[in-house]
Amino acid sequence: MAVPQNKISKSRRNNRRSHHALDGANPNECPSCGELKRPHHICPSCGHYADREVIAQADEIDLDDDAA
Ligand SMILES: [Zn+2]
Repeated sequence: MAVPQNKISKSRRNNRRSHHALDGANPNECPSCGELKRPHHICPSCGHYADREVIAQADEIDLDDDAA
């Protein structure tokens, strides 16, 4: 089994971990509804992407339609 030849000092270990911090999300405004959304994702509140509707929202679908 491979075993480290030398102990990694606290300084070298902490220097390695200095790049491990997570940064927060960077939301931007939806151009159609103004809600904050993740960049390059469909807006979860209005279903638009790049100014066109991609997903119909549940409150816009008529569920009482008995056309079947
Ligand atoms: Zn939107």
